[in-house]
Amino acid sequence: MTCKEFVDFIRAYRDGELAGELRRVFEDHINKCAPCKVYLREYGEIVALAKGAYADPDDEVPAEVPPEIIKAVLATLRRQKN
Ligand SMILES: [Zn+2]
Repeated sequence: MTCKEFVDFIRAYRDGELAGELRRVFEDHINKCAPCKVYLREYGEIVALAKGAYADPDDEVPAEVPPEIIKAVLATLRRQKN
């Protein structure tokens, strides 16, 4: 397996879709190829971060939004209504 093929299969591997010989070859590549091992780990971290970022899109506006910005947004909305 080449590094290019490895990257192509990462998603399937993480989704548990790689089976049998293909999975064995994939894991064999991880053990022999340090850059791909790092890539796989970073890929997992990025996926976890992305999931966290979109975990709750209906969240309230964070408390640290400056009041001036909220006032400016409200003022703009009022102007649009008039
Ligand atoms: Zn590799």
